[in-house]
Amino acid sequence: MPCVPFQHQGVRGVVCMKGPRPAPKRCAYCGALATCLCDYPKGKKTCDRPMCAACATEVDLDLHQCREHCAPGTY
Ligand SMILES: [Zn+2]
Ligand SMILES: [Zn+2]
Repeated sequence: MPCVPFQHQGVRGVVCMKGPRPAPKRCAYCGALATCLCDYPKGKKTCDRPMCAACATEVDLDLHQCREHCAPGTY
């Protein structure tokens, strides 16, 4: 697990990545590099469908939904 020490404005700390870095995901619709995941709740998790910014629908600040789940007002 890669841990990187840092020093910022006199504060020292260590930043650890969560597990191995996942391979970059591709957009489920157009194949571009996915920059966000569908945040639509699915049971205890979320849909997590990878999408690029162009294909994702931002329903709220940093909250995205895939096309399948893109139904405004269903939250
Ligand atoms: Zn896309
Ligand atoms: Zn979805």
